[in-house]
Amino acid sequence: MDNSTIAAIATPGGRGGIGIIKLSGPRAVSIAATIFSPAVSKLNSASGKTPSTKENSRGALQSHQLYLGHIIDPENRRVVDEVLICVMKAPRSYTKEDVVEINAHGGPVAVNAILELVLRQGVRMAEPGEFTKRAFLNGRIDLTQAEAVIDVINARTEKSLQAAAAQIKGQLKKSVEQIREFLIEFLTRVEAGIDFPDDVADIVDSNAAGREITTRVIKPLKRMVQHHLDGNILREGLKVAVVGRPNVGKSSLLNRLLQKDRAIVTEVPGTTRDTIEETLNIKGYPVILADTAGLHDTNDPIETLAIEKTMENIEGADMVIFMVEAHRPLTIEDHNIFSKVKSKPFIIAINKIDLVNGESSVVLLDCWMEKNCVEISALYDRGLKDLKKKMLLTGFGKDPIDIETAIVPNLRQKLLMEDSLRASENIKART
Ligand code: GDP
Repeated sequence: MDNSTIAAIATPGGRGGIGIIKLSGPRAVSIAATIFSPAVSKLNSASGKTPSTKENSRGALQSHQLYLGHIIDPENRRVVDEVLICVMKAPRSYTKEDVVEINAHGGPVAVNAILELVLRQGVRMAEPGEFTKRAFLNGRIDLTQAEAVIDVINARTEKSLQAAAAQIKGQLKKSVEQIREFLIEFLTRVEAGIDFPDDVADIVDSNAAGREITTRVIKPLKRMVQHHLDGNILREGLKVAVVGRPNVGKSSLLNRLLQKDRAIVTEVPGTTRDTIEETLNIKGYPVILADTAGLHDTNDPIETLAIEKTMENIEGADMVIFMVEAHRPLTIEDHNIFSKVKSKPFIIAINKIDLVNGESSVVLLDCWMEKNCVEISALYDRGLKDLKKKMLLTGFGKDPIDIETAIVPNLRQKLLMEDSLRASENIKART
């Protein structure tokens, strides 16, 4: 295990109110004492007395106390910044090592100057993720919790955050441990039955064993594997491709939903040549909208590329919004597009409903009618609430996972669970 002391800037680059420099390792506290001079204040002084600079030797900074003071360059006694500093002595820290956090003013120059000063004391720059790696190696968190840290950081909406936060608390670990404990106990019974058949003849009843494996192992594993699929959408966002003939109003819909003018909206068909992706937050669920080029027959090479891209987007989408126009009958192009769309869960959005009085002139085929269909006006903000409701229903189902209690494994964990599932089903088949 690497015993060096490491340091890094813990806050994002650029200017902000506060920038945090973090140190972890055996020399963190003594280095803090070398470069930090407490302000003349009773603040958090353990003795209640005003600490002098001289008192500021190793050990003078109490653990889990916040001190106001200055970072001073020991070589020239120059003040670098006024800061708040907190020492967290091992093992009561994120890494289980001695940790020091220096809350400086958030300008890049100030934060970098302090980091440089710290590094000059013989500290090594932390590698990306190294604080969390140490927390894992020192046994403070397990791998599932370490993995959840990145999910918390990358969370797109509050629901994704809840899912990751539950994992940091160790819910996945607890469930896997329960299964493991059952299997060890089960194995003990089986081995006892083999080794001492006379004494413990009926210790393993094979019918009961099959039932136990199903309820205690197979079902919970299957549930977690399914949650990976649902939870992945929470982690990554539900990918929705918006497709339709050129000029049906795809970009207008995207803009309306996002309430900002990111996509180009024009009167000329075929102007959305690249895919535009944006994340939408519908009731806490992350939805990634992709506006694609209009799908239609063309000889224009750029358009052809754009159409290929659209097809790729349909492939990669979890769900498709297929747009048609209310004031025009369906064309052969609409039918062609629909044939590509229908392999995915989809919603038909009949747009420009403002252009027709009452009934839309679109007559959907029976097989389309059964599906989700909603009349909207992207331009005049009509029917969009309904559309969003249908998006959630189609994308997440009637009964979306309860993220506060669900355990959501990542891909690595899911693959391991699938291995365990296969093995457990094998056991069951032999009982
Ligand atoms: P795209 O090619 O499918 O992305 O279509 P656009 O979003 O660029 O829209 C094409 C034209 O249709 C623009 O002039 C829009 O203003 C217009 N449009 C879009 N939605 C509506 C709508 O709900 N009602 C009406 N009347 N016009 C719309």
